[in-house]
Amino acid sequence: MTVYSAPTRDMSFVINELAGLDEIAALPDFQELGVTDVAEAILEEAGKFAAEVLAPLNWGGDQQGARLENGNVISSPGFIDAYKKFSEGGWNALSAPLEFGGQGLPELLNTPTYEMWNASNMSFALAPLLGAGASECLKHHGTDEQKATYLPKMTSGEWAGTMDLTEPAAGSDLSNVKCKAVQEGDHYRINGQKIFISWGDHDMAENIIHLVLARLPDAPEGVKGISLFLVPKFLVNPDGSLGARNPVNCVGVEHKLGIHGSATCTLVYEDAIGYLVGKLNQGLMHMFTMMNEARLKVGVQGLAIADRAYQGALAYAKERVQGFPMKGARGGHRVAIIKHPDVRRMLMTMKSQIEAMRAFNYTVARYMDMAAHHSDAGVRKANQAQVELLIPVVKGWCSELGIEIASLGVQVFGGMGFVEETGAAQHLRDARIATIYEGTTGIQAADLAGRKLIMDKGAAMAALVADMRAVEEQLGKAKGDDAAVIRVSLGEGIKALTSATDWILSTIAQDASVVMAISVNYLMLVGYVVGGWQMARAALVAQNKLATGEDADFYEAKLVTARFYAEQILPKAIALMHAVKGGGTTTMALREEQF
Ligand SMILES: Cc1cc2nc3c(=O)[nH]c(=O)nc-3n(C[C@H](O)[C@H](O)[C@H](O)COP(=O)(O)OP(=O)(O)OC[C@H]3O[C@@H](n4cnc5c(N)ncnc54)[C@H](O)[C@@H]3O)c2cc1C
Repeated sequence: MTVYSAPTRDMSFVINELAGLDEIAALPDFQELGVTDVAEAILEEAGKFAAEVLAPLNWGGDQQGARLENGNVISSPGFIDAYKKFSEGGWNALSAPLEFGGQGLPELLNTPTYEMWNASNMSFALAPLLGAGASECLKHHGTDEQKATYLPKMTSGEWAGTMDLTEPAAGSDLSNVKCKAVQEGDHYRINGQKIFISWGDHDMAENIIHLVLARLPDAPEGVKGISLFLVPKFLVNPDGSLGARNPVNCVGVEHKLGIHGSATCTLVYEDAIGYLVGKLNQGLMHMFTMMNEARLKVGVQGLAIADRAYQGALAYAKERVQGFPMKGARGGHRVAIIKHPDVRRMLMTMKSQIEAMRAFNYTVARYMDMAAHHSDAGVRKANQAQVELLIPVVKGWCSELGIEIASLGVQVFGGMGFVEETGAAQHLRDARIATIYEGTTGIQAADLAGRKLIMDKGAAMAALVADMRAVEEQLGKAKGDDAAVIRVSLGEGIKALTSATDWILSTIAQDASVVMAISVNYLMLVGYVVGGWQMARAALVAQNKLATGEDADFYEAKLVTARFYAEQILPKAIALMHAVKGGGTTTMALREEQF
């Protein structure tokens, strides 16, 4: 079974050298918190918690998943205790507002911890992930009374939170939500069914706060008639103590491909009491305020599971002896498979893309902090534009790469990867969900190419490209072969990105379906080029650090990894550009009966 060790060296490099933690720490809301002083301690302690408490439960959670017994969900062995320790350790509260008992720290520090929770135990990590989403939504749209009643307990982790959107006929298309809400005095009665609700019931927290989409009987059709309701598992008395059990019940737990430790519940509401959150008929809009955070965190899941798979594959490649060295005489000593060039190809493909994803994810977290906390409205707006543009990419690209890298992990293990005992197969099975929930890759791509790019006529993308060109220019001034190779590759990637972007901007008005047909290729192209830009920035830092002699091992490896990305990964952008500009018409050309 693979052990987990948090990659704190690279995390520290990214938050400090690429995402500029010192600038975030200097923002007015964080100045008093001594963010840069606590950062290393947080990484270290979170790393220990992930490795020592969560990781040992990952395999058990897979083998003995959450189950339904007499109407109650029983979590996997050890999860109750781990959840208690997680809450008591304050991990649930890291970036939550101070006024509700949180620590008020930046998203840039919270994001590496989410990487650790998900790498060590993705099933477990979904519980705080969804609770944070529900809290965020309530923070923005709840009444003062709702916030005072629910947020302190949700922040501490004593109460968990869920997001109840999906129904049998309303998945990607939430306009078809059918759950009903009927007013009764100061509350509503909720009736209906939701499916696939992560951690929809469990025994880890004393109460569960469900945020539920439902519609009033006279509400308009479609998305404009959906409202948001808070439905507690146990009603809360005026003094804050727990009251009667609300009739929201789990009637089934799914048997699924992966994340067995996370209960995926069918919930039935039978006259359950719910309280309106925000404005009537604006429920979906309200949910969307937390969607960016949730989607970033699913992108982080792709990164996390990829890193866990890489760690396992690397350890195995160092110990599995098979074959002879390329140059050695047959009959000499057999070698560990890490000596074979093709195994190196797999490990470098994993490592370089993981580092690119990490830099991408944390950079988006930086944009979020700037957008929410900078004192200058212009800076907030520019950063929010990057968040809007890049969220579908970070979610889609990282979750797709999570699967690819977990699959490479299985390949490095050979046959031992395909059997379950090594854990490599579990990572691949777990990784598979991240491209589906919180909006499939197709939905992210439609959001990117059909909405985000168009709504500002490509302005945010142009600003992003300008930042990339600045790095290309810096590379032109840097010395040495590495910088030269990386500069050429980045330049070609930027050209491919701008060419594909221009094509979409000029085509979409005439034929949106052709653009939708290639939108996932476009999303992946943006992901590879953003990754290349971040690795190029990393290479520049590495060169400077090497010149001063600082941490030579780490920075030498960073430079090699960045160059590998430039030579072996980034050229995919050019192929994707051709697919974008050429592929849409044929994708749609067959009549349905020709399939
Ligand atoms: C393990 C698990 C946990 C989940 N947790 C939660 C949760 O906590 N809360 C919650 O509310 N939901 C949850 N979900 C539901 C999840 O968000 C949905 O499964 C997801 O949004 C996709 O919806 P669907 O399954 O109905 O697929 P569909 O919408 O039927 O999609 C099927 C396929 O069609 C494509 N497609 C559909 N519409 C379009 C379109 N307009 N354009 C292009 N392509 C399209 C999709 O990309 C996909 O490939 C969970 C699901 C799973 C499996």
